[in-house]
Amino acid sequence: MTLKLPTTNKRLLFSKIKTYDETLPSLKRVIIEPVGFPIKVSNSENVKVSAENLDLFNIYARDQWIGEIVKEGDYLFDNSIIPDYAFRVISTYPKGGGLITSDTYFILQQPKKIIRTQFKKAKFDDIIGQEHAKKKCKIIMKYLENPKLFGEWAPRNILFYGPPGTGKTLMARALATETDSSFILIKAPELIGEHVGDSSKMIRELYKKAEESAPCIVFIDELDAIGLSREYQSLRGDVSEVVNALLTELDGIKEHEGVVTIAATNNPAMLDTAIRSRFEEEIEFKLPNDEERLKIMELYAKTLPLPIKANLKEFVEKTKGFSGRDIKEKFLKPALHKAIIEDKEFIDREDLLWAIKNIKKNVREAPQHLYL
Ligand code: ADP
Repeated sequence: MTLKLPTTNKRLLFSKIKTYDETLPSLKRVIIEPVGFPIKVSNSENVKVSAENLDLFNIYARDQWIGEIVKEGDYLFDNSIIPDYAFRVISTYPKGGGLITSDTYFILQQPKKIIRTQFKKAKFDDIIGQEHAKKKCKIIMKYLENPKLFGEWAPRNILFYGPPGTGKTLMARALATETDSSFILIKAPELIGEHVGDSSKMIRELYKKAEESAPCIVFIDELDAIGLSREYQSLRGDVSEVVNALLTELDGIKEHEGVVTIAATNNPAMLDTAIRSRFEEEIEFKLPNDEERLKIMELYAKTLPLPIKANLKEFVEKTKGFSGRDIKEKFLKPALHKAIIEDKEFIDREDLLWAIKNIKKNVREAPQHLYL
């Protein structure tokens, strides 16, 4: 049996009146995102669509789309305020699509922004140790300060490698801060698009944005997620589109004046040689030695909301194999939290010993051979 539905959708009225199978599921929820116009009018301003009041938006949306059958990936077009503006259906509930009725609830979700340009400022003085890396980074600093001087001799692609939490991101942030450059952080897995063409589009946009904001550091974290050598690639599925698009940008066919790409990995040995060879310089980050661990503890002790009343030297040996991040997040933070829970006015030796005991089992001894 079929059922005719009344509709206010002009698109439907003028093209075809659809008949529906009443066994079709009525949609309870539809999530859509604004995507823009089907054709581009030059000089048109970029339209940003958002809903201040979701209930009001729902009345508006249902009024024009009631009777439409949609599933994930379909498009719905606006008929009134901005005619022909398209929204993509991100998901429906029930899954698999169905009929929009007067009870369907719309959620307007903004497209995910993976290009992040906001970053936490940092200084070189905030980085304890990593003297070798600091020295090597001097050339990046000089370049970002004066890109014109270098011409085709610019440093372009640098690889930071070493155990997690040793300050690779921190160093990149400090480089951007100290040279007053822009900083775009991207995690490599986020570059893997859902549909064909998504990845190359994202990477093109990324470098376009970087060029516009030059001097700029593009920091690609977790490079191994896309740049694994072929023998490991079955772990990740097909990433060839991302890799090819990235290689095009790294290759320097296009001059990106004032743009430096820094990629970070914990496992350079596992990288595909085609990718690895694009980096003209590899800079190693090491786990902190005894003296550096003490300095890191002292540095963060100054920023803790409660003072430490204990001799930190005692904890140098106990934190062997810890990275800077481990010291901060797994040692000092839990000790602070324990002291706060117990309403103490300071962090004492007992809190610190407790924190060490709790994490010792989780912190790996540095598998240094991995980082060669
Ligand atoms: P990575 O990028 O190597 O994984 P991060 O730079 O994200 O490591 O480090 C995380 C945090 O750990 C930093 O923001 C900083 O607070 C702390 N940290 C790590 N290494 C150092 C260091 N050498 N000196 C000072 N702080 C450090």
